[in-house]
Amino acid sequence: MDCIFCKIIDKETPSDIIYENDEVIVIKDVNPKAPVHLLIIPKKHIPSVNHIEAKDKALIGDLILTAKEIAEEKNLKGYKLLINVGREGGQIIDHIHLHLLSGRPIELP
Ligand code: AMP
Ligand code: ZN
Repeated sequence: MDCIFCKIIDKETPSDIIYENDEVIVIKDVNPKAPVHLLIIPKKHIPSVNHIEAKDKALIGDLILTAKEIAEEKNLKGYKLLINVGREGGQIIDHIHLHLLSGRPIELP
């Protein structure tokens, strides 16, 4: 499958990995829109929010929980969590991911 995030997950493409467990990987965004700009990505290839199924509930919850834990670890005072959905929603990469943005100025991706 020609998916850049699957390639990053499989370590076929290099990336700056911040955190990883069996379900989730967190990388630095290659084109940061804020001083802290991380991408929290499930290892399961789900193209977008429009493709989430009931069985993915726990995994989707894990994305937000992971964001909270990283924010805590990095002592972030505040942050934004954002998911783009579909081309018209600004989604470029068709593998669901949660943006974690912090610091100023923050321009939404
Ligand atoms: P989205 O517009 O929500 O699909 O966001 C995709 C994000 O992935 C953008 O902010 C890109 O800068 C980022 N991105 C694209 N390729 C890479 C890569 N190889 N490593 C890290 N981040 C990437
Ligand atoms: Zn993928």
